[in-house]
Amino acid sequence: MTLNTWLAAHAASDVENLLLELTDRKLHYLTAAFLRRVWDDLPSDHTRAAVEATEAFASGRISEKELAHIRSLDLFDSGEGLWLGRADGERLDDLLGFGWSCCEYCDRQAEEYVCGALRNSGGFAEVQYALRDPDALAAAAALFARELVTWKASAEAERAEAEAQFHLFEEIVGPRWLPPERRQWRTTDVRTLARAIDRTRNFGALPILADALQEAGCEDERVLAHCRGPHAHVAGCWVVDMVLGYA
Ligand SMILES: [Zn+2]
Repeated sequence: MTLNTWLAAHAASDVENLLLELTDRKLHYLTAAFLRRVWDDLPSDHTRAAVEATEAFASGRISEKELAHIRSLDLFDSGEGLWLGRADGERLDDLLGFGWSCCEYCDRQAEEYVCGALRNSGGFAEVQYALRDPDALAAAAALFARELVTWKASAEAERAEAEAQFHLFEEIVGPRWLPPERRQWRTTDVRTLARAIDRTRNFGALPILADALQEAGCEDERVLAHCRGPHAHVAGCWVVDMVLGYA
């Protein structure tokens, strides 16, 4: 995909079509990365918690049920259909009712717990169902983030946001052809370091990962330059994923 193709896609279905071939893992990371760019403007703390949970799910730290629970709390708190992917207004109104909110108990309890109110509304089931459609959710997240910046600034800001999203796409999806020797670079040191970066979001350690990769025999300039270059990394960085064996 090129920058121009990405910028030309405005409807949810067009954006979704550009994401179709990605793995679910990449789609979850992209969803989180798009929303992290507008972190302070997200509708509620539940939205932020759902973004963090999306990353935790992508890296295998929480279950689908836990993620769906955290997302459904956000659905009821923010009233946004973000986690429903293709939400239409009427369906959202049906789910939420007027002035409906989840109980306090639900907020405070273990993430596995889903209170009766959530279950009865059908919101939890809807969120859980949509979770299996991660390309639609990633597209919804991209457009939602653009809307947020446009409300705050101007139409030009939307283009700048879309451009930044394309760079996130490159950061997470990476080059189409990866070096076949990558399997030999996955030494214990390299994997331990990559796992720590993935879990702690310590992207400042990527130059150290480059050193460890080089020690393991990696001379691929794309990989080394990506780790040592000046640009910002996010959860789902293609080099970290490659080292962890996801590519
Ligand atoms: Zn990166």
